Amino acid sequence: MTSTRKKIAALIVAGGSGTRFGAPKQFLPLLGKSVLQWSIDAFDGIADEIVVVTNPDYPQPENVRSVAGGATRQQSVRHGLAALRASKPDIVLIHDAARPLVMRELIESLVAAAEKSGAAIPALPVTDTVKRSGKTESREDLFTIQTPQAFDFVLIDKLHEKYQDKSLTDDAALCEAEGRDVTLVTGQQDNIKITHPQDLARAESLLSSRNGDVRTGQGYDVHKLVPANGKKLVLCGVAIPHDFALEGHSDADACLHALTDALLAAIGAGDIGQHFSPADPRWKNADSAVFLRHAANLVMERGGIVAHVDVTIVCEAPKIAPHRASMQQRIADILQLPLARVSVKATTTEGLGFTGRREGIAAQAIATVRLPFVSATVQKNEDLKWAS
Ligand code: MG
Repeated sequence: MTSTRKKIAALIVAGGSGTRFGAPKQFLPLLGKSVLQWSIDAFDGIADEIVVVTNPDYPQPENVRSVAGGATRQQSVRHGLAALRASKPDIVLIHDAARPLVMRELIESLVAAAEKSGAAIPALPVTDTVKRSGKTESREDLFTIQTPQAFDFVLIDKLHEKYQDKSLTDDAALCEAEGRDVTLVTGQQDNIKITHPQDLARAESLLSSRNGDVRTGQGYDVHKLVPANGKKLVLCGVAIPHDFALEGHSDADACLHALTDALLAAIGAGDIGQHFSPADPRWKNADSAVFLRHAANLVMERGGIVAHVDVTIVCEAPKIAPHRASMQQRIADILQLPLARVSVKATTTEGLGFTGRREGIAAQAIATVRLPFVSATVQKNEDLKWAS
């Protein structure tokens, strides 16, 4: 990076209430993280600063600045721009949180175009026939427009102030109102906007198709049962009333340990002990959700997603059935997966062996992850470089 590199900011609008979803859609889980988090992470390594404009009553995103939105999208953007003034970015990318699939290539082309013209937006030519009340319209010069939209910061900040009483549907419309040219950059076909519930399934399908390298990993763990003495029996992240608890350095959740190992195995990243030493005082009585989340983050750092996880608990007691649903929900929450991608089940060993004698509880897990094929190719080229 040279010292002349422009300072880039990203402003992500995430204040919508998502009436079609029964909850704000930007917080819905989408294969490992929320829709909003996908949108934030898309600017990783490109934006020097990220501001999320959201409703203060909503859960606040971690590790980025958030700013209270306004009554309309336009007002929210204005608040976000005001919050960015102090850091004086050259270019600002204004993005709707509901487009989580935007890719780096598009963002970089928009920045490059906006550096030249002051305003650049992603556009796709309309290919379907367009009709208005039974009359076919020419689709020539018709485009659908996406976000992010990239602007010279000072320009768009001024225009948002100037036109704050005029209701406009996107930020580029402010430039048009001013008679300024806006550069059209070819948009990204799969940069879809999550608008209807079925769009979430489409986003899952698109993310899965980007990650065609399917891997599985398995994990196994055992912990010893000891009299509870006030300690909770924790299985799959759920505390269960029982006279016995599992012995261990952390919360001794054999299920989440097995599942963590399964995820690590699927990406060839060793085992839980290598990542979280049982000798480390930091993990004394630790919530094993931390370990599982870490393994899931490693999958995502490789550009991958967790597709499915399955845990089998082996014990005679306690009865798992009454807790199965909350265990499934807890794992889904930790991994930000839909419930249908999480399985929890239990079995006994018919009184045989150490689990049969109630000396301990065992857990087995299988995780399926999907990685981009490109990482394997890059890895191979790296290997060749070393070999030559
Ligand atoms: Mg363990």
